[in-house]
Amino acid sequence: MAGELDVLLTLQERDSTLEHLLHRHQTLPERAALHDAEATAGALDARIASTRAERDKVAREEQQLDDEATSLAAKAKEVDQRMYSGEVSSPKELQAMQADIDQLRRHQRSVENRELELMEIREPLDAAVAELEQQRATVGADVDRFAAALGAAEAEVIAEMQTERAARDEIAAGIDPDLVREYERCRAAAKGAGVARLVGTTCQGCHLSIPAIEAEQIKRSGGQPIAHCDNCGAILVP
Ligand SMILES: [Zn+2]
Repeated sequence: MAGELDVLLTLQERDSTLEHLLHRHQTLPERAALHDAEATAGALDARIASTRAERDKVAREEQQLDDEATSLAAKAKEVDQRMYSGEVSSPKELQAMQADIDQLRRHQRSVENRELELMEIREPLDAAVAELEQQRATVGADVDRFAAALGAAEAEVIAEMQTERAARDEIAAGIDPDLVREYERCRAAAKGAGVARLVGTTCQGCHLSIPAIEAEQIKRSGGQPIAHCDNCGAILVP
């Protein structure tokens, strides 16, 4: 039975190794790198969306002005063609038509000037969108790369955990199931040692002392019935 308690210590070593592996799995640097790259990609997506929206708004206004200028030019041309068609001979009417044409062309020029101003606003926005899209492509490649690296690192840790778990189960299979359950209960309650060696009067789980008489009794009994540390609750192994 004292031998079985020693085996329990070996089981605990395996459990600790498994916990470390689980912690390593959760804190793989590849996971942080992937998380950062994904956050950067998300921020870029948001900037691309807002810059594009701004650019598209300017482009739409620009198109409206372009349509307006085209329509004004067509109207001026129409009046011009009628003027020189020979259908109109009244000088007064011809003069009014010329004034019409001049007015239409002035309006067209002012619309075209506004269109140019908008083009000057839109072009840097086009460049900004292109630049952001390029950055996004680079970050997208990073995300893929980090995801692949994380997958490989995870697989490695999981394989180690499987080996460790199999070894742990094999050890546990050789111990009385009630004792294993008792150990697991103590380990969960203590959030650390479920079983600990008693050296002198000191529990090696919490490094605190138990009364000397108690320690002596445990040593004499070989740990039977199972004795617990007064401080941390671990099963004591003499
Ligand atoms: Zn203790």
